[in-house]
Amino acid sequence: MTPTPDAMSPVSRTALPVVLVRAHESTRPEPLFTDPYAARFAEAAGLPAELPERARREGLAAALAVHIVLRTRYYDDRLLAAGTEQVVLLAAGLDARAYRLDWPGGTRLWELDLPPVLEFKEQVLDAADAVPSCRREVLPGDLLDPGWPRRLVAAGFDPQLPTAWLAEGLLVYLSAEQAAGLLTAVGSLSAPGSRLLMERGRDVSRGPEDPALAHVTELWQGGLGPETDQWLNAHGWQARTTSLAEVGAAYGRPLPEGAGRTSGFIEAVRTAEG
Ligand code: SAM
Repeated sequence: MTPTPDAMSPVSRTALPVVLVRAHESTRPEPLFTDPYAARFAEAAGLPAELPERARREGLAAALAVHIVLRTRYYDDRLLAAGTEQVVLLAAGLDARAYRLDWPGGTRLWELDLPPVLEFKEQVLDAADAVPSCRREVLPGDLLDPGWPRRLVAAGFDPQLPTAWLAEGLLVYLSAEQAAGLLTAVGSLSAPGSRLLMERGRDVSRGPEDPALAHVTELWQGGLGPETDQWLNAHGWQARTTSLAEVGAAYGRPLPEGAGRTSGFIEAVRTAEG
């Protein structure tokens, strides 16, 4: 049966433009990463083969595309540098890191997301005969359901071992209360030395800048907003933020003068017991 993303909710469909950007980056000369599965997901989802023109020019679509490319490479590097045996991708969407990164032997990786997106993902990966480079397990479910930590542990996750957690492109879709609840659950599963990667929270109160992207930006609730790092520091983590401008400069993709100073990425290290 041909997989389709039809059953996905609007928030799950936000995983589709992300793979389109990754597919486009993978075809560029000197890409920051190569994701051979991104184009397969895009094709199976019936997306156009090319990135829309507006995402190549200026404005919000282009800024989001740059953000996705830089964060993908940044998180690739930070997840591998974490050197933990356990990796958890919260809201994994169509992230193919389990397949495309060179994980050390013995790495276990769990992917959590809503059932329709993972169903679509598994069908495409199966059709591609994809083989993960780690021990991968998929846990379909709602991260707002308080039962997910129990299900993760039942799937072999050990809370006594340090873990690298990734929440890429997730918290902006949650309210402050939902984000705090989710991060509290993550903290309770995190042995000292665990690492948590995510975007610096965004102030979504200013509203969408591009009506063509309203179907995405109207889903933004802002999570814990620009104070996300302060929340983490008060809840057993030590957070460090790297701005988008710094990441762009480090990877040879400098941003225009003055851009990328308020957005960026947080890497938090667990200091306290859960
Ligand atoms: N992390 C992936 C990436 O960067 O490729 C996907 C990012 S996509 C923008 C947002 C993802 O969050 C979607 O896959 C969506 O299904 C997932 N998501 C949103 N709310 C969720 C929830 N309550 N439980 C599980 N997943 C959720």
